[in-house]
Amino acid sequence: MPAEQSIRLLSDAVANKIAAGEVVERPASVLKELIENALDAGATQIDVNVAAGGRTLVAVADNGSGMSRDDALLSVERHATSKIRDVDDLERIATLGFRGEALAAISAVARFRMLTRRAADIAGTELTISAGMLQDVREAGCPPGTCIEVRNLFFNVPARRKFLRSEQTELARLRQVFNVYALAHKDLGIKLTVDNRLVAQVAAVSALPERLRDLFAWLTPENLRPVMCCADGLQLDGYVGVPALARTDRAEQYVFINGRPASAPVLAGALREGYHSLLARDRHPVVFLFLTLDPALVDVNVHPAKREVRFRNPGVARHVFIEGIRRALSGNAGGVVPSGGAVAATILNRGVLKHDWRQRNLAGIEPDAAARVVYPRVKADLPPVPANVGTFPADAKAGIPGAQPAVAAASTSPWAWFRVLGQVGGLYVVMETEDGLTLMDPHAAHERVLYERLMAQIEKGAVESQRLLIPETVELSPRDALCARRHLDLLKKTGFGIAEFGENAFLIDALPACLAETTPRVLITDIVAMLDESGGRRGAGMLREESVAQAACKAAVKAHQTLKPLEIEELIAQLAQAEMPYTCPHGRPTLIHTSFRELAKRFGRA
Ligand code: ADP
Ligand code: MG
Repeated sequence: MPAEQSIRLLSDAVANKIAAGEVVERPASVLKELIENALDAGATQIDVNVAAGGRTLVAVADNGSGMSRDDALLSVERHATSKIRDVDDLERIATLGFRGEALAAISAVARFRMLTRRAADIAGTELTISAGMLQDVREAGCPPGTCIEVRNLFFNVPARRKFLRSEQTELARLRQVFNVYALAHKDLGIKLTVDNRLVAQVAAVSALPERLRDLFAWLTPENLRPVMCCADGLQLDGYVGVPALARTDRAEQYVFINGRPASAPVLAGALREGYHSLLARDRHPVVFLFLTLDPALVDVNVHPAKREVRFRNPGVARHVFIEGIRRALSGNAGGVVPSGGAVAATILNRGVLKHDWRQRNLAGIEPDAAARVVYPRVKADLPPVPANVGTFPADAKAGIPGAQPAVAAASTSPWAWFRVLGQVGGLYVVMETEDGLTLMDPHAAHERVLYERLMAQIEKGAVESQRLLIPETVELSPRDALCARRHLDLLKKTGFGIAEFGENAFLIDALPACLAETTPRVLITDIVAMLDESGGRRGAGMLREESVAQAACKAAVKAHQTLKPLEIEELIAQLAQAEMPYTCPHGRPTLIHTSFRELAKRFGRA
């Protein structure tokens, strides 16, 4: 170290540039700060304008309070804020910003222009700064409110500019920030223009359902479930996407706490748990959730980026999220009126079906000629939907469900009625439902049906077990045998009659009744492999039984079989009664639905 070097205070310009590193990471963080300032200034309308993924321009215009000339000059100084005065104020922050850092930091690393006017002033102020150096202050004519333009972000900090991602990626982040505020502030009008094209606009008066429609073109209302859940003074509402909407990233998870966009470690876990058994491990649900609680029960000032919150009682928050999501997603039995006339009626009246749809001989219920289902080629008269049936999705026709979430949630059977049109690809079942075209993967559907039936029995501690006419010996590899031996009790609890039979062999004399169609060898081998795979990770209790049930049902359905019409209808009816009809227990979708509305759109009608 050269001798002449000593400690010295950094100039403001340098300090600001360093601070910019914390506050301003990328165009999206600029947008966030500018929108928050506009909101703090009481804006009811915000116009956002970006270009080239925010590299060349991020601009926010608001109709908020505006600033006097003096305040405008102060606002870009470091630690200049109108929002707090002393330490005590920190305890009762109502505004989004309070550090007084953003404008100083942003203007230190960009070409910055502000136009601002208070409604009562005759003239406004225009202020330009480049790389933290004040260039010009002058009177200017402008509407009341503030408009801030940030151009050429990081033009003076090449190292940071290098870290910006592709235009598309930066734009996606900008878009996300925009969405967050458009969702959080239900009485805010907000508009987004990208490269001179208007891409999103929500009106100040629009409620959440319309906001979702205006912000997310890809989102169809029938893919959302309303959430409404209260517990211990916490209230959760909003919408969650059906499992089929899930994505490989968390980009479309919008969670708000007391109106603020928020994240907390406990929330990620709660979302996963809410979708438990509905999503594969690497899929993330789409959610729009709003939690309301006493502000004293949550700490928002944990993270400088201000998104992370800490709950006084994380357990309660977690519980509300899990409950709310599960209730919203769970289907409801009843209300299923298939079109197959007599056959369909018998299916429904028979209640729980004793046999497997793959079974070739439907002993005792061979359909008589009159009741045989014929796949209609032309559109027949559709059966009327009985008045007492919860028609789903009734709400889909009126836009996104919203009016009465409780009612809508209680009628989440995937359809009010269905009509099977046939099978394609030797596998997929094609059917019409009251509001569109549905494809069903019968294997995934069957897995779901079996899984829920088996789990229900396991939970009650009363698994129906069926004795095999001829007990079977199954020889396992030494490793699998070890695992099977270790989990013998678990297997018995899930309905297997299993006993050790020599070194690596087991005698199987009973199977869970709902899986009785499967060969014991296949079943046991698959389950043991699964236990082995997950044995270390899975905890005690229910999870182990769940994984056994999952493996068992998967094995039971593995064999590809052609379905008879009657069997298809039965399966559909059973799936409609499932608690979670939309995915198999491993998270693959059972149903793919295209609404008539979507079809009309694609055909250019309407
Ligand atoms: P903070 O928001 O933490 O106070 P900022 O640097 O973001 O810090 O803003 C500094 C000050 O500038 C704010 O406290 C506010 O008084 C003023 N200000 C910033 N943006 C606006 C705006 N859009 N309308 C009115 N005042 C603004
Ligand atoms: Mg601010």
